Amino acid sequence: MPGRPARALKRLAEPGVQRCINRACGAAYSLRERIYLCPKCGETLEIDCRLARPKNPDFLRRSWAAGAKSKLPRDASGVWRYHALLPFGEDAPLVTLFEGNTPVFQAPRSAEYCGLSDLRLKHQGYNPTGSFKDTGMAAAMTQALISGASTAICASTGNTAASLAAYAARAGLKAAILLPHGQVSSSKLAQSLDYGALVLEIDGNFDACMRLVQELGDDPSIYVANSINPFRIEGQKTVAFELMEQCLWQVPHHVVVPGGNMGNSTALGKGFQELLDLGLIKRLPKLSVIQAEGAAPVAHLFEKLSPKQRADFENLPEKLEPVENPQTLATAIKIGAPVSWKKALRAVLRSGGKVIAVSEREIADAKAMIGRDSIGCEPASATTVAGIKKLVASGHIGRRDDVVAVLTGHALKDPDYMIRYHEGTLTAAHGAKDPATPKPMVGAFANAPQRVAATKAAILANLERRA
Ligand SMILES: [Zn+2]
Repeated sequence: MPGRPARALKRLAEPGVQRCINRACGAAYSLRERIYLCPKCGETLEIDCRLARPKNPDFLRRSWAAGAKSKLPRDASGVWRYHALLPFGEDAPLVTLFEGNTPVFQAPRSAEYCGLSDLRLKHQGYNPTGSFKDTGMAAAMTQALISGASTAICASTGNTAASLAAYAARAGLKAAILLPHGQVSSSKLAQSLDYGALVLEIDGNFDACMRLVQELGDDPSIYVANSINPFRIEGQKTVAFELMEQCLWQVPHHVVVPGGNMGNSTALGKGFQELLDLGLIKRLPKLSVIQAEGAAPVAHLFEKLSPKQRADFENLPEKLEPVENPQTLATAIKIGAPVSWKKALRAVLRSGGKVIAVSEREIADAKAMIGRDSIGCEPASATTVAGIKKLVASGHIGRRDDVVAVLTGHALKDPDYMIRYHEGTLTAAHGAKDPATPKPMVGAFANAPQRVAATKAAILANLERRA
């Protein structure tokens, strides 16, 4: 068995506290308290793992590398391998489906498309349920068990639902999922049904589902696993640790992620910050977040911030102006009022990154380009490559910079989108004069099926034309 990294870190008796992110409040609560917002001021919470800087950071690196080769479930999981940096005691009932350990691909065609000499894509769609949500859900369902709840609940555009359904089933908990009726891709819904969750479709949008879930959180038998849940952020922050191992501890200049509810960017920012605080890295990568134009409340706010406000990231505006009726075909990030915006924006500003928005057409073409690199992803993931192209054009990213984009979902999460793009029948409400009459989009890389005569000559002629 590899050396337990926990020994390398000095920690106080409790493996952390839940702390209000409002610096003026700063209230701290025990990890056992089942709260999702600060009871004093209503702000979101984050977990302070109270990690002390180790004398020898290399010991941690070596023990993680050894753990990666171990066959024990705790070490084979790309979340629990980093147990020493997570707010769980030694005796916690760790829930795992062998999440994490996702690949980092070289993407030469996407790099050229963006104007970069090199681009790497870390693909969180290679997780057990096909999305990045699984790393966080492993941690959240473990905490649900610790809390004594019997049901786990979430509101979701799809990926969270599929992940919750799978991890709740693995933990032996009942799962209930609230979805906006008619707004989710069928493959994600199919996953939730297959994992045995109770799926409740409501008339209303995602934000309405979120409000209901927060009300239900008062019931002691119910554990809320939305991205407001700080334990999910803890599981998701391990992506930063794993990425740095895969980069052989050479910090990339830029890490770029899609932005919906902003939990992913919050988690990555927290992960990198902890590595910096522990002395495992010397600087932060610039963290940039890309939203879809029709669902870009944080990008709008970022644009309005003065240079002084950008430098003073502890004193961000109190409120985010929500997008009332978010519109994007990238359903995984179709969110008008992201709950984790403040934590994410702080992380972006602290690192020197940006939050920008990209159009439906830019997302669609970037997705097809990622596909040409033999890497499938769902539409939301492709905001990264679309955003990197813009950030290179604007000079924020240098052509020779070391850039990693984090893809969040598997291509088969939304096969309809791909078929419609390549057949030329994709239409988008965002950007259309009248949203009721969606605008057709003809992709730059459309690859429609060809009708061909059943002869060898006809097939060869077609192959030649493709060149
Ligand atoms: Zn507070």
